[in-house]
Amino acid sequence: EPALYPVATPIGNLGDVGLRALEVLAAADVIACEDTRVTRVLLDRYGIRRPLVAYHEHNAARERPRLLATLAEGKAVALVSDAGTPLISDPGYKLVEEALDLGHKVIPIPGPSALLAAIVAAGLPTDCFLFGGFLPPRSGQRRTRLAGFADLPATLVFYESPHRAAEALADMADVLGPDRPGALARELTKRFEEVRRGPLAALATGATDDPPRGEIVLLAGPAPERGTDADDLDALLIDALGRMSA
Ligand code: SAM
Repeated sequence: EPALYPVATPIGNLGDVGLRALEVLAAADVIACEDTRVTRVLLDRYGIRRPLVAYHEHNAARERPRLLATLAEGKAVALVSDAGTPLISDPGYKLVEEALDLGHKVIPIPGPSALLAAIVAAGLPTDCFLFGGFLPPRSGQRRTRLAGFADLPATLVFYESPHRAAEALADMADVLGPDRPGALARELTKRFEEVRRGPLAALATGATDDPPRGEIVLLAGPAPERGTDADDLDALLIDALGRMSA
């Protein structure tokens, strides 16, 4: 069927690819991917040979009209990223938006995403969560971003590069609270898969002493519920007064 198909691919373990993902990739007139070398590894493993075009941050503005023109010819265009679900901290959002605006069909083929794999393994509440993508690399901006999320009654989920994990966790402990429960999920579905759990401050210390390698997701539990009894109100007032005089 002619449409744009965002197709989820594995986040490390090639066995995680879905049956429908393989069917759609095998039938696509063209597969738009971030890095043709990465996608070829997956396609080779399953004996799929379809035309690939690179679609990434740096050529998106030039390639998008071409992909939209292909859709307009009634072709099936699959969109994949290097790993996981396209559009999730990966290219594709603009392409989907413009395809829809032009009246094309968009058919998602769901599957792996580090975000969901991490949250189901972290032992933190899953009923309400906020996915914050990548935190800003510099501490000042990162702390400002975190402060905006600090009072949300939602589990917070962030992607992070391993060499910034320790400093990001330290900022999370400072801004969100050192005792707030947290988790660091690493190398999910791969050989060195690991989930570290504990209060944010302890996770930060642990990440300094034993730096986590590989691909990483950081999580923090929801803001503690603020009660409304007299003691809690006192604490709130003292807190607010402290902030005013600070
Ligand atoms: N689109 C992908 C998805 O749906 O998960 C995410 C792409 S984003 C550019 C890459 C980031 O996802 C990594 O820096 C890491 O934070 C996270 N990630 C990807 N694979 C992972 C894995 N196997 N284990 C833990 N985190 C992973």
